[in-house]
Amino acid sequence: MLNVNWRVSESQVEAIRGLLEKRAVWLVMPVALRPAFLAWRLRDLGRYIRVASAPLLLLVIGLAVVESLQQAGKLSVHDESLWRFGSGFICLAVALGLLAAQSPLVQKHYPRLAMPLATLILAKFVAMPTFLDSPSAALAESFFCMIAITLVTLAMRLTLFQATAVCVCGPLLGVTVAFFFDGGPLSRHTFFGYYFVALAGVCLFVAWLMEEEEKESFLQSVLIEHAAAEREQMIADLDRMAHRDSLSGLANRRELDRSLSVEWERMQREQKPLSALYIDIDHFKKFNDHYGHAKGDHCLAAVGRAIGDALLRPADLAARYGGEEFVVLLPDTDLNGALDVARRLLAGVAALDIPHAASATASFVTVSAGVAALLPHPALRQADLLELADRALYEAKQSGRHRVCSAVEPSMPPVRPRSARAGCS
Ligand code: GH3
Ligand code: MG
Ligand code: MG
Repeated sequence: MLNVNWRVSESQVEAIRGLLEKRAVWLVMPVALRPAFLAWRLRDLGRYIRVASAPLLLLVIGLAVVESLQQAGKLSVHDESLWRFGSGFICLAVALGLLAAQSPLVQKHYPRLAMPLATLILAKFVAMPTFLDSPSAALAESFFCMIAITLVTLAMRLTLFQATAVCVCGPLLGVTVAFFFDGGPLSRHTFFGYYFVALAGVCLFVAWLMEEEEKESFLQSVLIEHAAAEREQMIADLDRMAHRDSLSGLANRRELDRSLSVEWERMQREQKPLSALYIDIDHFKKFNDHYGHAKGDHCLAAVGRAIGDALLRPADLAARYGGEEFVVLLPDTDLNGALDVARRLLAGVAALDIPHAASATASFVTVSAGVAALLPHPALRQADLLELADRALYEAKQSGRHRVCSAVEPSMPPVRPRSARAGCS
């Protein structure tokens, strides 16, 4: 995974595919992807530093100690103090560098801080041999420089460009220091420079191979992540299509059936009332005939939104039942509460003020609603609730439309909302 808060566009995906297909010797990372690539390269830097710190520090201190023992008694006073100063500087620089690198803030700016430190270390190893009188001590310094080059180019997680910059700037700084402070015979530079260039060249070549591999892995992982995101999006779309009505954005019939079943069981367990509203747009056939089907679809969508907006509780569900009919389920709501919702909903649709010149009821689009509430009981069927609401809707249509009616089934079991009573308002 990328672990980078960042997404690719379709055109970038195409560009990456093309890049990987006609893969040249040198994989040129698209400019837009470079920051993400650099972040991706260093995604495990914290863990890497934690794992590498102790062995690296042991290696540096171990080499300093072993070499000090080897040179013991063989160095002049001048070389001895220079040697101690140089070894102390390296051990301190590496220890402080590793300590600081544990901090996430330092890790954030890692290349910017690691490059100057690595440059200083290389400069020290390049300059030091020219100041030492003892040829064996100067040779040892040069060998340590080889180790430093290897670590800088292959282990410090610098990019090829950064590692190359360090390999150029470090020796240049070292030679400059040697020159200005009268560092001694130039022959040592010549001898050392030859090996330095050879080893740096080999290491940078290997670093280049590694970086090309990394670029390819990064681009592959971008494609994989993109495909995964696309798949997730597709699953979400399919899921939405399976449960939502595309025109109104409300739940579809299937989702209503599922929700009715779940809420019916829940309300039965909790002994709480379940209400349903059956809503139908008034004179919608005439609306279509007058304004056309496209306007009719817009009207349906707007009414659907108004119905959804009238619901305040998360458990309430509005669904398009079919055609221009909607059903609202209101768990834990008695008849009075359901009537309130229905009136709010009627007012919401009226407030849309969608002109309906062909309506015999009003000059704007109106709806009628049938309301029913009951306490789910094993003797009842889930369909009873909707049938009851449908009957109330019929009543609303018969008594003039643009109104709310409620119906009560006489054969319902005794437990029923307190004020349940058939009527229209
Ligand atoms: P009433 O006041 O009695 O409900 O009359 P009505 O005309 O609304 O009822 P009727 O059942 O006679 O007509 C419903 C109309 O709804 C018929 C159909 O053209 C329209 N309709 C159903 N589904 C859609 C749809 O998805 N888009 C559009 N534009 N119209 C639809
Ligand atoms: Mg209808
Ligand atoms: Mg209708």
